Amino acid sequence: MDPSVCVIGGGIAGAGAALALPNTADVTVFESRSVGGRLASRRREGCIYDVGTDHVLLADADLRDLVTDAAGDTLVEIDRPVKQFDADGTISERPEEFPRFSGRDGIDSLVRSLLDISGARVEEGATVTTLDRRGGQWVVTVAGERRAFDAVVLAVPAAAAVVLFEGADWDAAVRGELARAADDIAHRTIDVVALHYPFAFEAEYYGLVSIERASDVVWMGREQCKPGHVPDGESVLTLQLGSLWSAANANATARETAIESAHYVARLVGDDRLREPDWWDHHRWGRGVPTAGLDAALHNRTLDAALAIAGDWVAGVGQAHAALASGLRAGRQLADRLGCEPNA
Ligand SMILES: Cc1cc2nc3c(=O)[nH]c(=O)nc-3n(C[C@H](O)[C@H](O)[C@H](O)COP(=O)(O)OP(=O)(O)OC[C@H]3O[C@@H](n4cnc5c(N)ncnc54)[C@H](O)[C@@H]3O)c2cc1C
Repeated sequence: MDPSVCVIGGGIAGAGAALALPNTADVTVFESRSVGGRLASRRREGCIYDVGTDHVLLADADLRDLVTDAAGDTLVEIDRPVKQFDADGTISERPEEFPRFSGRDGIDSLVRSLLDISGARVEEGATVTTLDRRGGQWVVTVAGERRAFDAVVLAVPAAAAVVLFEGADWDAAVRGELARAADDIAHRTIDVVALHYPFAFEAEYYGLVSIERASDVVWMGREQCKPGHVPDGESVLTLQLGSLWSAANANATARETAIESAHYVARLVGDDRLREPDWWDHHRWGRGVPTAGLDAALHNRTLDAALAIAGDWVAGVGQAHAALASGLRAGRQLADRLGCEPNA
C-alpha cells in the first residue's frame, strides 16, 4: 500500500516538503490558517500587498527553476533596483543582487502554486493539536479527529513545534531535546505597515533598505512595482520597522505605528504628501524571523521514527528560500526513509 504522509504547516517549507515527497505517497497538508504562512498577502479596495515576506530572492538556479515551473504566470519579477539609505537619510546606489520575485495575485500564491503541482491534498483551517507515536505510526489530532499516518513532516514555526513536542505521547529522548532546542531559538519581532495613497508616487527604485538596520524604518517597498498589485494612479508602500523600534514601542497602537512610519518615509524621500495616507494597515510579527537554527545532528535523529522537521528556524536563516530548501530536504529525507524516489 502507498505510504501515507502528513505535512503539518502550509508555509513555503511545507510546500517544499510536499513537492519532494514521492508521488507514490498519499500526502495530506494540514494548515491551521490559509496556505502561505509568512508569505502573507492582503487584499483591499483593488490593491494586493505583501505583509510578511516582501519578495523571494532566488539565487540558486535549481530553486529558481522549481519555483518558475510551478508558479508559471503567477510569478512576477520586480525589475526596479533596490537602493540604500544611511543614518542621515542619504540615498545611494546598492550593489546589484539576485532577482526578486513576488506573485501576481500576492506572494502567498507562490506557495499555493507549489502545493498545487505537488498533488498533495491540502486542508486549510486545520490545526494539528497533538502528535503521538502509536504502534509504528504517527497519530495526529485535527479538529478533534484522530488520524494515522506512516510518516510526518513538521513544517510549523518553532513556537508551534515546541507545543507539539512538549505534548507528544512519544517515548524518545529526542522529543524533550527538540522541544528545548526549538524553545531556545531567538526571533526578531517585525512590525509591517502598509500605506495607501490615491496618487502615483514615482521613483526610479523599487525599494529602499537601511544600511545600519538600526533605524526606525529598515525597509520601504513600492508594491506598485509588483505587476498586478496596485491599480494605476495609486500607491501602496510597505514598510518594515526596525527591531529596536518594535522593542521600544511594544505598546504603540496600530494607528500610532502607521502615522509615525508615514512621517518617517515622507522625510526620507522628501515628499510631504506621504505624511497622509488615505488608508493604512499594520501587522506585528511577534516572532518574525529566527536568529539561529537547529543543530542538524539533533533533527536528523527523528528520521528513524519517520519524522522530518523543516522551516526557516531549522535552517537557521530567516528567509523564504532557506525555508523552501529546508522543506525539500525534509521531503527527500523521508522519501529515502520510506525507500522511495523523491519527486523533486
Ligand atoms: C515581516 C517579515 C518580512 C520578511 N521578509 C522576507 C523577505 O523579503 N524575503 C525572504 O526571503 N524572507 C523574508 N521573511 C522570512 C520568511 O517569511 C520566512 O523565512 C519563511 O516564510 C518561513 O517559512 P516556513 O514555511 O518555515 O514558516 P511559515 O511561513 O511560518 O509557515 C508555517 C505554517 O505552519 C502553520 N501552522 C502553525 N502551527 C500549525 C499547526 N499546529 N497545525 C497546522 N498548521 C500550523 C502556520 O499557520 C504557517 O502557515 C520575512 C519574514 C517576516 C516576518
